[in-house]
Amino acid sequence: MNLGKGIRLIEGENKGRYPFCNCLLVNGCLIDTGAGKVLNEIKFHTVLNSHWHEDHIAMNCKAERVIVHELDAKAVESFEEFKRRYAIGEMVEIFVNFPFCRVSQTFKDGDSFDFGVSVEVIHTPGHSAGHCCFLVDGRILFLGDIDLSFPWYGCLDCNVTDFIKSIDKVKKLADEVEIAIPGHGSVVRGDELATKLENYKKTILERERKIEEFLKRGEDPVGKGVIYRKLPQPTEIFEHFERVMVEKHSQRLGLKF
Ligand SMILES: [Zn+2]
Repeated sequence: MNLGKGIRLIEGENKGRYPFCNCLLVNGCLIDTGAGKVLNEIKFHTVLNSHWHEDHIAMNCKAERVIVHELDAKAVESFEEFKRRYAIGEMVEIFVNFPFCRVSQTFKDGDSFDFGVSVEVIHTPGHSAGHCCFLVDGRILFLGDIDLSFPWYGCLDCNVTDFIKSIDKVKKLADEVEIAIPGHGSVVRGDELATKLENYKKTILERERKIEEFLKRGEDPVGKGVIYRKLPQPTEIFEHFERVMVEKHSQRLGLKF
């Protein structure tokens, strides 16, 4: 989809569903590299990554320069750090079928780049420590994995409180945004964005309410549909992620888990 001034939405394979993601081409700069085979036909010299997860960095090595938030840089360039943050041991290998390559530069909140149009960095931690959204040409918002469908925080560097604050931070920009692009799923018109973000936040708070009920009854909430309606395959891994997410809520609630 052509968005004007050299800006192009590159929709990920299978509508950008995991393990693919939507990407945004801003002249020679590509935001995230998980769109799939379609990227073989696209020329880009620079990559900006929203965060370090495999479905967003898969084709980083095609670029001359990779730029990412300082807090996610290590996990983008090093399998060891990637593995440490997932904390699932050798099982992490099922997520990795791509080469890791060096990060050439880092950015922080408020930095901006000029690729013929401006690209502003908005640090939005929670889904990962260095997760960022990008405001392109002051009118297109790339949301990364503030994906408007399934808030996920199953790794060591995820933080639920930060995630909620980041949703609120992005919501403040909603008025000036013409189009918002989640890392997965369909694009959203600016006038729908605030409501979608509010519902997204409600999903997190609703999970927390249910977890509180379980914990107060002394029951284990894992595997009861609170986060994953049904644990995806391989269940061993996704049960672990759910446990991590429940644990993060239990810490916020000050309840034993
Ligand atoms: Zn992610």
